[in-house]
Order: sequence, then C-alpha cells, then structure tokens
Amino acid sequence: MRPMNRFNSAALYLFLLVSSTVLAQTSNASPEIKAPTKLVVGIVVDQMRYDYLTRFWDQYSDRGFKRLVSEGFIAKNNHFNYAPTSTGPGHASVYTGTTPATHGIIGNDFFDLASGSMVYCAGDDQYASVGVSGREGQMSPHRLLTNTVTDQLRIHYKNKAKVISISVKDRGAVLPGGHTANAAYWFVGGAQGLWVTSSYYMPELPAWVADFNAKQSIAQYKKPWDLMLKEKEYTQSVADDNPYEGAFKGEEKPVFPHDLPALWEQNGGFGILRATPYGNSMLTDFALEALKQESLGQDKIPDFLAISYSSTDYVGHQFGVDSREIQDTYLRLDLEIARLLKSLDKQVGVGQYTLFLTADHAAIPVPAYLKDQKIPAGYVDASAMKKEINQFVQARFGADLVANISNNQVFFNRQAIRDLGLDLDEVQGALADYLQDHTDVAHAYTARTLKSTEFVSGIPAILQMGYHKDRSGDVLFVYKPGYISYSKTGSTHGSPEVYDTHTPLLMFGAGIQPGATAERTEISDIAPTISVLLGIAFPNGSIGQPISKALKP
Ligand SMILES: [Zn+2]
Repeated sequence: MRPMNRFNSAALYLFLLVSSTVLAQTSNASPEIKAPTKLVVGIVVDQMRYDYLTRFWDQYSDRGFKRLVSEGFIAKNNHFNYAPTSTGPGHASVYTGTTPATHGIIGNDFFDLASGSMVYCAGDDQYASVGVSGREGQMSPHRLLTNTVTDQLRIHYKNKAKVISISVKDRGAVLPGGHTANAAYWFVGGAQGLWVTSSYYMPELPAWVADFNAKQSIAQYKKPWDLMLKEKEYTQSVADDNPYEGAFKGEEKPVFPHDLPALWEQNGGFGILRATPYGNSMLTDFALEALKQESLGQDKIPDFLAISYSSTDYVGHQFGVDSREIQDTYLRLDLEIARLLKSLDKQVGVGQYTLFLTADHAAIPVPAYLKDQKIPAGYVDASAMKKEINQFVQARFGADLVANISNNQVFFNRQAIRDLGLDLDEVQGALADYLQDHTDVAHAYTARTLKSTEFVSGIPAILQMGYHKDRSGDVLFVYKPGYISYSKTGSTHGSPEVYDTHTPLLMFGAGIQPGATAERTEISDIAPTISVLLGIAFPNGSIGQPISKALKP
C-alpha cells in the first residue's frame, strides 16, 4: 500500500466526518438529553439487608425482585456512608444525595441544643393534623436543611411535575417528598386505620383520600397472619419457636399463626398491621390509588411517586433478621412489588417509567442468636454506661456537665462549662479518652477531632459524614462490632458497621442500562443518578456521584 500523503489523509478525514454525520443522522437525529421517563417510582424498603435478595431468591416470583434484577441494574456493594444508620437520616440521604453532615437529619429523634430537649426529625408543631384529630399529622420537612431530587424535579418543571410521597411511617413520607411535594401521606392506626397528612401540604384531604379512608378497605387485613408457604419451605430461617423473637402484647409465644384479631385491642387496633406484612399490602393499595387518582405519569412532564415500605422494619425489630416472620414478610413483599409493577405497566406503560429500590439502613442479626452460633456478639447496658459517663465527668471536673446522651453521642452543657471556666476541648478530649478505654467501646471521637481532621476511610470517615457541626454531640462513640444496646429479642441498627450499611440498590425501566456492579456505590449516589436521568439539577447539598454504568448512554 502507498504511504498516505497529506491530500489523502485530508480526504479520509473528510470522508469520516461526513459518514459519521450521516450515520448519526440516520440512527438518531439528535441525542436525547431530556428525561426519557414519565414517572420515577422511588421505593425504600425499611431495614432491607442486601442479603434478603440472595437468601430468599429461589422463592421469589419472576415478577417482583427477580424482574427488577433481570431486566434492570443491580448494585451489589451499595452502602450507607455515615452513621447513625436509622430511618430519618436514611430517607433524607437517599433523596438529598448527601449525608447528615449536610442535610442535618442526624437521627430519628435528636437532642436540640437550642431548646435543650429531644426533637423528632419530622415533627413540627407549627402545622395541624389533616385527616386525624390527634397530633399524628403535625409534621413537616423543616429540619431537613437541603433539598431533594423530588424538590429539584418540582423546581425544574416550575411546579408542573407532581410529587406524591407515601409511607406507613410519617418520616418515611415527609423526608422523601422534600420541601415542595404536592402531598405526603402516612398511616395512623387505632380504631379506624387512616391515611393522613399535615397542613404543611394542604388544608384538607383530597376527596380521593377521604373516600379511600371512608371505604375502610383496610378491614380486609384484620385476619390472622399465617405462613404464606408450607412450613417446610422456611428453610432460610431459624425455627419458629425460638428465644430471639418478641411476641405481640397478649401473645403467649412469638409463633405462627399470629392471631391478629384476638390481639387487636391490646396492640393499637389497626396499628398492629404495621408489624405484619399486611402493612406493606395496605401501602400498595394506597399507592395504586394515588397512581390512578393523581394521574401520575400521564403526560410529558415526569412525575415522582415515593413509596416507603415500613413493615419490614417493624417485623425486623420484633422478630429479628433470621426469623420466619422476616422470610414470610419478604416473600409477600415480592408479590407487592409485582402488583405495583403490573399496575405501572398498565397505567404508565412498559418501559415508560423508571423505578429504583433501596433501603434506609440494614440491620444486625440478633446478637443472642449470633452468640449461640459461637460468633462474638452481645449487649451493652446503655443506662449503666450513661451512669459511668456521668460519674467520670463528675469526678474529673467536679460538676455534672452532661446535658444529653443520644444516638451514641454525648452532649455537654456548654453554659455550665463556660461558667466553670473549663475548656470545652479539654472536656471532650478527657471523655473520649475515657470511652476509648471502655470495654464496650471500639471507637470514640471528639467533635473537635471530627471538625479539624479530614478522614477518608474507615469508621471515623463514616462518623464524620454523620456529624453535623451545629447539631451533633461533643463526643461520638461506637460499640464493638456485634454489640448493641437493645432488648435481647429482635434486630436493630444505627451503627457504622457493614451489617447496618449494606443495602440493595436496584434500578429498572426507562433510561436504565441493565447490568450489575460489585464496585462500591453509596446511598448518596442515588439522587445524583436519578438527577442525571431526569436531566435536572442535582439536589443542592449532594455529594454523591452518578452511577454511570446504570444509565443508558
Ligand atoms: Zn428504618
């Protein structure tokens, strides 16, 4: 072949340029950068561990979790990157793309320095309950310091995109809806079982919600909870009668069948449904009604339906992660996901909507069970530890300086420290040193250290991501892995350890590239990923990175 001269290379360049332009024009007139979706459905499964996908995989239907995985994208190494790993911070982080250090939701309940009392992450006395006479509706997102992907969608489309957020738990609905949701609804048990809201969103319930409540279709769930499959199918769980589970009030043993009608009055009437799989079913019922009545995903402007399934968390707390109750709850949740997908296919259209599914935290296996398996685990007596902390501070500084201990954070009385002429850094440091030597404690850090050092990995980095400069405590401590401060039955969460951070992330539908990754992704990546998909600005405090592998090029 002749060596190419300048003329030839220029001609070749021209040919390539023309042909690539022609190709681009014939295959795709101009790249589509606007939202390829009519509706985003965000699903949070409260307390869902990643291994619930694998542990129960063989028993899932083809239409629920398996469909999300086989047709969508799965992130297998998805983690919370901060502590405390609890519900309020979890929902806030999924939707803001950042962590408590920035969005300010540092716990479900946390100590408020200004008022000197505990506050609830979604509570707001400035607003009235709507749809219920009690205080259960007095909620708002006012403690959430940044905005959410749902807010950015509302702002982008000048309030023409609709955002509806629902959950059995108020905080599971309020925080995902952000500051601008059209509506957030949550559940109140008792004699009736009602979906309610706050005057923050609206002065009265829309007719369809009032009608839905009035119909009392929820009464269908006042029935015993028995295993969905034959007893011999529950091989992925421990025996039904075991010492690691809590019973309902009035129940002799925590075993199937749980006779809900007989236990009804003692357990808050319809409120008992929260700790059963029926709580998830009634949420699906309500979500499907919202989908229809609010005409979600019916035009070119994308809408957002945020759903948080809470019953998984109540069941985990009561029966533990290795219980038959948990297995049964997930097998039934799989069918709820299938029911939701079926309706979305029908009402919005196959491939016309985008769905993600994740959790707000995971959970630890019951330490008493782990101990019986010869695994190091156990319990910390929190009230004894509180006493020891108080005694240490009293002995060292001659005064009672501890204002509050909550979420494994010690808050000092700043005024008392000033009045005594003490140095706050010195008091923090002394207590951190003391706790670091405590037999139950693995790590202890002062606020001073978290503010002045940038940690990039390990437990201190996770604590730092959960540390808010105006809201967090003076000394933060972490128990040894496997140790919790909790009842001897049931599971809990809140720590920076992997058993609390490892959660599923599934993405499915319009704009999602099917596939899988075992590379680490973090909860704060979800909102930026959905923002890129929607072509909208990222939430204003977001620190995560879009998971580009999960997005169609
Ligand atoms: Zn939770």
